[in-house]
Amino acid sequence: MSLPDFELARPSSLEAAVEALVRFGPEAQLVAGGTDLFPSMKQGLFSPRVLVDLKSVPALDGLHFDLEEGLAIGALTKISHLAASRHVAESFPVLAEAARGVASPLLRNMGTVGGNLCLDTRCLYYNQSEFWRGAIGGCLKKDGDVCHVAPGGRFCWAVFSGDLAPALMVLGAQAILTGPGGTREIPVSEFYVDDGIVRLAKDRKEILTGIRVPASSAGMRGTYKKYRIRRSIDYPLAAVAAAMSVAADGSCLQARVAVTAANPAPKLVPAAEGLAGKTFSAELVEHVAHEAIRTAKPLRTSSSTPEYRRQVVRIFVRRALRELWHDTSSAGHRAGSRGR
Ligand SMILES: Cc1cc2nc3c(=O)[nH]c(=O)nc-3n(C[C@H](O)[C@H](O)[C@H](O)COP(=O)(O)OP(=O)(O)OC[C@H]3O[C@@H](n4cnc5c(N)ncnc54)[C@H](O)[C@@H]3O)c2cc1C
Repeated sequence: MSLPDFELARPSSLEAAVEALVRFGPEAQLVAGGTDLFPSMKQGLFSPRVLVDLKSVPALDGLHFDLEEGLAIGALTKISHLAASRHVAESFPVLAEAARGVASPLLRNMGTVGGNLCLDTRCLYYNQSEFWRGAIGGCLKKDGDVCHVAPGGRFCWAVFSGDLAPALMVLGAQAILTGPGGTREIPVSEFYVDDGIVRLAKDRKEILTGIRVPASSAGMRGTYKKYRIRRSIDYPLAAVAAAMSVAADGSCLQARVAVTAANPAPKLVPAAEGLAGKTFSAELVEHVAHEAIRTAKPLRTSSSTPEYRRQVVRIFVRRALRELWHDTSSAGHRAGSRGR
């Protein structure tokens, strides 16, 4: 499979990048590290006439921590930079752990935070070669009119499979978007649309320029649990991010849990927030773990079965909350350790 022809636009400023998106309209697509986009272009999933290369806008790169503003992450920041940051590991352990689990070292060196958050949704019937897809007549998301996951419906169930979004959601992070109409901020938890085709709550002329993690989330205990077939490289097939602050008397001050790779959008589990003010009990943890599988609705979109992925979510939530409440999380205590 080879890359189709395209023109490369290399704007030197954010304004010029937005202008290129406006000028070329639907024929243009943004590229950052290209680790997700280029394989997809080779599979014929996208064929933009113009690629607008964000790497020529260095102002979008970098991590900056301020005691009042919190952590600012530029959209072009490499995943490896985030994963290696001591400050991130110490203050936002769930984010560090999620970053360390993305893909493989080479892909983390190329892949960016912005690209990770704007990933296309994935499905067994979509992420295939053009030849393979042609043999089944395409699918709702590309070149067809049937969803092979749920053939009776008119809805695309392709799954958002990024690792960073749930970690940022449990930290209460904001996404910063710039478009022709100016700059706006929305919570990362509202950046996603639960529809495999629509995917993101942003206009195609808007660029995700960065993320802001509030200073109030610094120091929250956190952990990220990821299920994938090959631990050395694969996308998640189900994963859970959790963050919690605990009072000196052991009661929960604040808790958030989010699930990714189970639905078209990553989602917060509302029941987790009900733990605030409670002291630990196995029943409470079990209640949130059960509610998590009402939030996560995996279907047959991957090589792993929906039943197995649902059980994985339940077990990950149980483990995460127990670890965080009792402060035995691998993320908190062994910053260099792996995700699962
Ligand atoms: C074998 C393999 C395994 C992988 N495993 C994982 C994994 O375990 N976890 C995981 O999360 N990802 C995984 N990925 C996907 C990918 O490598 C990472 O998500 C990476 O961080 C994507 O960033 P990028 O800069 O390369 O994105 P790109 O490929 O450049 O872009 C991805 C999408 O985002 C859009 N985009 C990029 N930047 C912006 C921006 N600033 N604003 C608006 N839109 C933007 C692009 O138009 C494109 O649609 C894997 C990829 C491969 C090939």
